[in-house]
Amino acid sequence: MTKMLCNICSDFDISALFAQSKSQPPQQDKTGTYYPEIPLWFKHQTRITAIKSGAADGCELCELLWSQCQKRFNDADIDNLESHGEGEEQIYLGLSLWRPERKLQPFITIEQHNMKKTPTLCKLIGWLEPYAKRGKIGNRG
Ligand SMILES: [Zn+2]
Repeated sequence: MTKMLCNICSDFDISALFAQSKSQPPQQDKTGTYYPEIPLWFKHQTRITAIKSGAADGCELCELLWSQCQKRFNDADIDNLESHGEGEEQIYLGLSLWRPERKLQPFITIEQHNMKKTPTLCKLIGWLEPYAKRGKIGNRG
């Protein structure tokens, strides 16, 4: 199978996400300086099973996202979510809180956002640790 990105994943710009995070004013708490999380940065699929389909269709990023979702949900859980309509929550990619001075790097977060619940419910369903070989990262300024 040829490796590729689906239409949604090809619009996900990880460099822009990191730039957005670093453009925030750093915050302070008892343990030091941190950049706040950005949980709802990129609107991905409208349901978790669409990520599964994207992975099955050969999208590399959907495959990675789906592998993380499977750590939290098994097939029976997915079927159960679907039958209760909960599988149809909007999926977002974002960035976790991070602390540059403690060398704690951010994670790409996978969140499920339910707008129908009050207050709106946002659930972390998985995360990815991004890395790149030195000198191989794209620089967009
Ligand atoms: Zn995809």
